[in-house]
Amino acid sequence: MNTHTSILDAGETETLRSPQYYEVFRQDLVNFMEANCPRELREKVRSNQKLGRAEFAEWQRRLHAQGWGAPGWTRENGGTGWDLRQRYLFEEVSAELDCPPLYHHGLGHIGPVITHFGTPEQKARYLPRILDGSEWWCQGYSEPGAGSDLASLKTSAVRDGDDYVINGQKIWTSHAHEADVMYTLVRTSVDARKQSGITLLVVPLDTPGIQIRPIHTIDQWHHVNEVFLDEVRVPVANRIGEEGGGWKCAKFLLDRERLSPATVPRLARQLDQVNELLQARLLRSGPSASLHGALERLYHAQAAVQGAREMLLSAIREEMNGTLAASKASALKLFCSELSQQISSLAYDLSAPEFGPRLLPAVPAPNGADDLEIERQLVHTYLFYRSRTIAGGTSEVQKNVIARDLFGA
Ligand SMILES: Cc1cc2nc3c(=O)[nH]c(=O)nc-3n(C[C@H](O)[C@H](O)[C@H](O)COP(=O)(O)OP(=O)(O)OC[C@H]3O[C@@H](n4cnc5c(N)ncnc54)[C@H](O)[C@@H]3O)c2cc1C
Repeated sequence: MNTHTSILDAGETETLRSPQYYEVFRQDLVNFMEANCPRELREKVRSNQKLGRAEFAEWQRRLHAQGWGAPGWTRENGGTGWDLRQRYLFEEVSAELDCPPLYHHGLGHIGPVITHFGTPEQKARYLPRILDGSEWWCQGYSEPGAGSDLASLKTSAVRDGDDYVINGQKIWTSHAHEADVMYTLVRTSVDARKQSGITLLVVPLDTPGIQIRPIHTIDQWHHVNEVFLDEVRVPVANRIGEEGGGWKCAKFLLDRERLSPATVPRLARQLDQVNELLQARLLRSGPSASLHGALERLYHAQAAVQGAREMLLSAIREEMNGTLAASKASALKLFCSELSQQISSLAYDLSAPEFGPRLLPAVPAPNGADDLEIERQLVHTYLFYRSRTIAGGTSEVQKNVIARDLFGA
């Protein structure tokens, strides 16, 4: 357990809970996760393999049965109502024990939007199935001509009686091929300012007129897709918020997307693995200039993870108080995504003697038979993490948000 003093200690006085309380809480987490997260699943996470819906959903089902399905939600909405320290401990223990991260599209993204903007009927319909992991969501925001400039999206929804009829195309839609529902931004008006003509709709993916085509990323993984919508009819009751109010929901969601409580503990865990790799290299081949350089990069990354941890805790606190500034979420996203690339580059360089660039085509696809080959999977992680500074908004876009918040635009 990390023992250094941090913003968590400020949280402790606020909640008036003793250090012993959190020690017992932490031990409860450890006991539960060790007893309930299947060994094979933890092994998969440990060796950095990609997980599919069945694995995420099974873990979510078990957490939900324990009452821990939504560590970040209030009790009123079916969450744990945990304080900041408890939320962080949950993520920390989960990462340390190689349990899967929580699937973010439902719990982290659309769940809080429905909680905030949804009708009582929408909350009753959607939240329980996010909590028990039985319904799987994906995000249909980006389009071929609207990524960084999301407000330029063109997919249209035209009102027809009690329905909207949707036509257009989404792209880079993560997990669409495994999902039941997509929350999507559509254009309902071209008359006003482009942001004001956008509406947020929930689209069941078995609705006629939807075609999902795979995109394979550089690491050979299929998790992103193109989604084509041709005369897709959804009830008006599937609209979240007002017609034309989608941009407000989208911004609310993006701030939370950029603030994933799991990110930092997972980075710390990866860094532990890189450290083990480095120590093994040192034992095998003795000190050298290149390993010394790697050690220096490791120390820098370790310090950066500590910094990211403080930033994350302060952002979660602001989010819980309803005062989260867009610039804080963007700064965190920028910092953590670049740090994750530095860590995976270091792992890649350390793996290079055996699995270097010339051998890359021979690297097995994720979920292949080679399930204990941590180093090979680190190469996959290296490749996949190239997208970290793009997905969820590029680094340049985060810098724009920060500059606008700090200096005005
Ligand atoms: C692995 C992965 C998963 C994804 N998952 C999803 C998903 O589930 N759902 C979804 O909706 N989207 C998803 N995306 C899409 C992602 O949000 C977009 O790729 C991202 O917002 C960038 O948009 P773009 O690809 O259109 O690039 P563009 O916006 O065309 O940007 C191209 C380049 O121009 C730069 N640029 C653009 N505008 C500016 C500016 N104003 N100032 C400075 N530089 C600028 C960008 O930084 C970038 O380097 C995913 C993407 C990836 C890679």
